[in-house]
Amino acid sequence: PAFDQLGLDFRLVQAIAKQKFEKPTLVQRKTIPLAIQGQDVLCKAKTGSGKTAAYLLPALNGILTRKNKDPKRYTAALILVPTRELADQVFKAIEQFTTFCAKDIQAAKLTENVSDNLQRALLSNVPDIVVSTPARAWQSVTKSGLALDKLEYLVLDEADLILSYGYDKDMENISREIPKGVQTTMMSATLTEELGSLKSIFSRTPKLLDL
Ligand code: AMP
Repeated sequence: PAFDQLGLDFRLVQAIAKQKFEKPTLVQRKTIPLAIQGQDVLCKAKTGSGKTAAYLLPALNGILTRKNKDPKRYTAALILVPTRELADQVFKAIEQFTTFCAKDIQAAKLTENVSDNLQRALLSNVPDIVVSTPARAWQSVTKSGLALDKLEYLVLDEADLILSYGYDKDMENISREIPKGVQTTMMSATLTEELGSLKSIFSRTPKLLDL
């Protein structure tokens, strides 16, 4: 299917066209329809596969669809990444995908180089979508007013690295704050046994995409 046949909001389809993406990549073709249906997904995907759009587009689409009925703003999506560099890339991708709906979707990036004051300011604006490392996300919950009680979408990008960088304790803390039934997408370059402890964050059995 083409991008305009995946059930995405037209403002997202327009933004995709503006970036000159011609057709969805394999990861996108497999992940986007499942995620739009509300399924949890555990996907083997590496950098360059188009994994970022694969998880961002369904989350952004979900936020836009809900806002058509209920324009209230709350943090509905949390994207967890292992590094500041990846957070920068993901945030940039959000800006590009929301070119035509920038008023409807506020995003915030919380990483180790953001000052406490800026972090509080970003969160007092109640972003719809937050991109963060697990450590900063947890710190933001405890110190800067990041509320996860209405969360609807959770993404763990480069989940294998999230584990190998030692974020397990932060992940445990965050899992306890997250409402049951949050839709979860996990992207990982490897699907090894070690993902085991992270997999408990899924509240349903995820669809496994071993591409
Ligand atoms: P990622 O694997 O998410 O890091 O994406 C790798 C690169 O591929 C990024 O620069 C994207 O902008 C680009 N990209 C993602 N999806 C597509 C697509 N469907 N067509 C062309 N380029 C894409």
